[in-house]
Amino acid sequence: MNAPRYPRRPTRQIVVGKVPVGGDAPITVQSMTITKTADVEGTLQQIYALAAAGCDIVRCTCNEIEAAEGLAQIVPRSPIPIVADIHHQYKMALAAMEAGVHGLRLNPGNIRRPEHIKAVASEARDRKIPIRIGVNGGSLDPELYDKYGGKVTPEAMVESALREIAYFQEVDFDLIKISVKASNVPLMVEAYRQLSEVTDHPLHVGVTEAGPPPAGLVKATAGIATLLLEGIGDTIRYSLTADPVEEARAGRQLLEALGLRERKNVDLIACPSCGRAEIDVIDVAKRAMDAFGDRKIPLQVAVMGCVVNGPGEAREADLGIAAGNKRGHLFVKGRNVAVVPESEMVEALVEWAEFIHEHGTEAAMARADVEKAEREAAKDRSMLLDAKGDDANNSTDKIVEIRRRSS
Ligand code: SF4
Repeated sequence: MNAPRYPRRPTRQIVVGKVPVGGDAPITVQSMTITKTADVEGTLQQIYALAAAGCDIVRCTCNEIEAAEGLAQIVPRSPIPIVADIHHQYKMALAAMEAGVHGLRLNPGNIRRPEHIKAVASEARDRKIPIRIGVNGGSLDPELYDKYGGKVTPEAMVESALREIAYFQEVDFDLIKISVKASNVPLMVEAYRQLSEVTDHPLHVGVTEAGPPPAGLVKATAGIATLLLEGIGDTIRYSLTADPVEEARAGRQLLEALGLRERKNVDLIACPSCGRAEIDVIDVAKRAMDAFGDRKIPLQVAVMGCVVNGPGEAREADLGIAAGNKRGHLFVKGRNVAVVPESEMVEALVEWAEFIHEHGTEAAMARADVEKAEREAAKDRSMLLDAKGDDANNSTDKIVEIRRRSS
């Protein structure tokens, strides 16, 4: 099935390092290191893990001179572009540029003196380094906060971004991307909608301080996905209280789920389990997910609880396995291809996935004894149907009991 395409709001394009953002460039995933930037080896280790998990651009804090010195060593060794995060000290922005970073993030709520903002923008212009104007609902310029009635409103956040753009324009700097993040999802969604009406600079989309998963994942997804489906957003970040690798993974998975990026890793689907399940589906799916990890096998792989319905329900998957009668029935595009002992289901999935990735589906079918596999699956399917019938959840018995009790 071809992935649906959502009409994307046209934006200008900028380039962060070698990664284009905006225009017709693929939507990118960002994350931020949580190490001390002065810890060069520790930070690089995290950056490599983030890149492996699907992160395209990474941000590191530059809050002190040691951090800027660390960046000078990190930048040449990083596999992905580095953006320096600047809050209160504009001099740290100058130091980060000296260190060779590929981008800056400035918070207009924290650097407010026009001459400081313009000094940074002038140097960024000369060095062709893009800057993200990172408005944050929690650290809005107090003057704007007062102007909008002591409240953080979408209008106040957009005005903060526009004021910063105006300073940049005074020094002829336009390598800009913008974010207007808030931890409140409806607020950030509205702020981005309004912003996208008044500017065509690329937008960096995120829900700030979303919190720990799973609630943080839900909040971030609600905000980011809503905007992406409206065609708003050129680069995204999940701000989770978790290992940043989880942020990168979530960002990547969201874009793949929406059909906005090519699949890179295994897309593991699994049935929710029910009374028919012949295995602990949650455990097998988790073990399969761990076994595939961040390996670059762009296939959809299914773990299904029973051979009665599993192969049919997951017939669109590239590969899958369904349990029955203490055995695992492997299927490729809905066709049974092999039978393995239940204890070897995960290993068999990985082995077949590797084979298909390397040699293709046809070669996988050619090495299979399809007739035998289908015979065995039919045998286990009818055995399970005999044992559990059509009513695996015993609904009929339960209804009889409910009626008996209420009569
Ligand atoms: S019928 Fe089988 S495949 Fe479908 S949810 Fe139940 S156990 Fe899973």
